This record gives sequence, structure tokens and C-alpha cells, in this order.
Amino acid sequence: MFGIYIHIPFCLKKCAYCDFHSLAMKADDVPQKEYAMAVCEEIEKQAALRNLRNKKVESIYFGGGTPTLLEIKYLELILNSIRKNFAVADNAEITIEANPETLTIEPSHTTTASAGRPYRTIAQNFNRLSIGVQTFNDKHLKTLGRIHSAETAKKAITAASDAGFKNISIDLMWGLPEQTINEMETDIEEALKFGVQHISAYQLTIDENLKGPCKMWKLPDDELSRRMWLLAHDRLVAAGYEHYEISNFAADRYAPLGLSMTQKFRCKHNLNYWRYGEWLGLGSGASSFLTEGVTSLHLTTAKNIPQYLRRDFTYEIEEISQKTAMTEYSFLALRTFEGIYLNDFKNRFSKEFNAAYPNLSKEWIKNGLARLDGNRLSLTIDGMLISNELFGRL
Ligand code: SF4
Repeated sequence: MFGIYIHIPFCLKKCAYCDFHSLAMKADDVPQKEYAMAVCEEIEKQAALRNLRNKKVESIYFGGGTPTLLEIKYLELILNSIRKNFAVADNAEITIEANPETLTIEPSHTTTASAGRPYRTIAQNFNRLSIGVQTFNDKHLKTLGRIHSAETAKKAITAASDAGFKNISIDLMWGLPEQTINEMETDIEEALKFGVQHISAYQLTIDENLKGPCKMWKLPDDELSRRMWLLAHDRLVAAGYEHYEISNFAADRYAPLGLSMTQKFRCKHNLNYWRYGEWLGLGSGASSFLTEGVTSLHLTTAKNIPQYLRRDFTYEIEEISQKTAMTEYSFLALRTFEGIYLNDFKNRFSKEFNAAYPNLSKEWIKNGLARLDGNRLSLTIDGMLISNELFGRL
């Protein structure tokens, strides 16, 4: 599969834990037109240079940053440029990330839930919305440095649904500083009230290079983290969600007749990452994974917004060795409950998984950390709980 990722590196405020490439500024100061036009130019250049024009695009994902800080006309400009340069599938998943405050306040340009119409315009252009709620607890939102309140988040989800979005995902974060297991449970119960199609529940981690108050945060120890992950798993699965990746859950409730709902509401774009599919990342700081001939490449655009606005597109290019590719492929696939299709591994690398990693799967299976189901090797719940340790063995 082939997907396109567009990075919009602007936010209204920098969150205390954030190590993404994003710059905080007032909504009216975002260089919307200049940035959108630079992205369109990069699309043209990369499509031609990397010989991608005939690639069928099955997912498009606008992430950030806060993509909903761009006016709809600039989001449309970028979408149109993608359609002009690539063959976008009729059923492509087209996602936009949004922060609740950009969906409920009314800055001069904007996407407002209260006004309704601009929100509906987003729904006409994007068929999936991913809202960064993180928690419904105002105390924790404040610690995290988020600018929305629990109330704003709730309004944003309701307004998205009212505006016609049929595929809404919300991000929750757990393992927050001083968060109790009861508080986490309340977050999950709140999220369940909305009946959204997808929930991502990520553990908060702090990059060691980050500075500021987050250095002083008391995060849960291993035992509490284990209990929290299990709580998310147990409660969301009991509520009818499919736990399909370590941190991701797809609704299993509104399946139209004859359609597999779980397939429908899994995030196609992220599944492509976990299945080691190709994607083209565009925008300042975006990364790509492409295969050219027999070589796979990671490309990263320079994380420098002024340089990007000058159309000075420079890339860090890393050729991926076969050994690294096998490792990446394996740990990404093992993040999903579907796991590794061993015949696919063999087709791709001309080598059996067991030859690449002698005795590993045997040991994991013996210890109850993995299971073999025909041609598929996947982690069990016990394996998922120590997945980082297991991935270190690949
Ligand atoms: S909204 Fe997201 S990208 Fe922006 S600062 Fe916060 S965590 Fe980072």
C-alpha cells in the first residue's frame, strides 16, 4: 500500500511533553498560504523526482502540529495538488488531526464548531477525523500544557459527529504525572460515552532531550503502567472495540451488513506503517519510507520552517540495510495483534523468519509470549506487556 503524509508544523501553544516538530504561534500569524503553496510545490517535485506519479494512494493523513490551523481553502489546495499528481483511490482514507480548541473557538479565519458550516466543509474533504483529547481531566490537561478543557474536548467530539463525520478517532494518553488508575478509568468511561469509531490510547513518554517542567514529572512505575495498559485493553475490548495494535482500538459496533467493521475502522494509514508499506511524507520535518528498485530508503525533510517556505527542500536520506529492514518489519508487524505473516516475511527478504532469528519464536511461544497461528506469528497479551524488551531481541 502507498500513503501520503502531510506535516503542518504549527500549534497555538507548545505542550509540555511535545517533541514533535511544531512551532507555537497565534492563529493569525500562521503563514497559511505560503506554507500550503510550498507543500504543493514539494508534492510536484517529489512526485516527479521519485517517479511516484502512477502510485495508487490509499491513504492521506494530515498531521502535525495542528493541521486544523489552516483554513479549509488551503487544506483543499494541498488535497487538490495530491489528486493532480497521484492516482488517489476512490475509497482512500483521508484523515485530518485536530486539537479540540481549533474546532470550538472562533479565530478570525476558522473552522468553528459553533458556526457549523466550516466544520462541515472539513467533513466534505476528509472522511476521518482524529481529535487530540488526551484526557478529560482538567487538572491533567493543565499539567500537560494543553490549552483545551475537558468541556471543549467534549463539545469538539459532539460537533464533529453533528457535522457528519462518520469515522472519528480520539487520542487518549495514560501514565500521566501522578495519574491514578481510577482517573484513567474515568477517562476511558468518558470516551466510551461518545461511541467513536476509533480510540488511540498511548502511554505518555518523555524524550530525554526535552527540557522544562516535564523533567520533574513523576510517571507511573512499571507495575502501574502494566495495570494501566491492561485496564485500557480490558475495558475497551469489553465495550466492543477491537484491540488491533498495542495502543489502538477500532470500533466493532456499527458494521453495515456484509462489511467487516473492524477492518473498516482500523486506521488504514497507520496500518500501512506497521505493515512496512511505502509512504511519502511532505512538509517541513516530514519523513518518508520508499522503495526504489531493490533499495529501501528513509527520507526526512529538514526541520526548518523558514527554509521550507523558501522552497529549499533538503532531505536526509538513509539507505536501509537488509538487516535493519528485517528488524523494522518484524517489530512493526508485532505491534499489531495480527502479527507477522511468515510467508510475507520470506517473500520480502528471501529468508525464513526462523533463519533470520534462530530459536526466537520458539522461545517466545514456549514462554507464552507469542503464538503461532498457521502462517502468522503474533504476541500474546503477556508478550505485548513486555513488547519493548522483545523488540530489543530482533
Ligand atoms: S498540540 Fe500536539 S503537536 Fe502541538 S505542541 Fe501539543 S503535542 Fe505538540
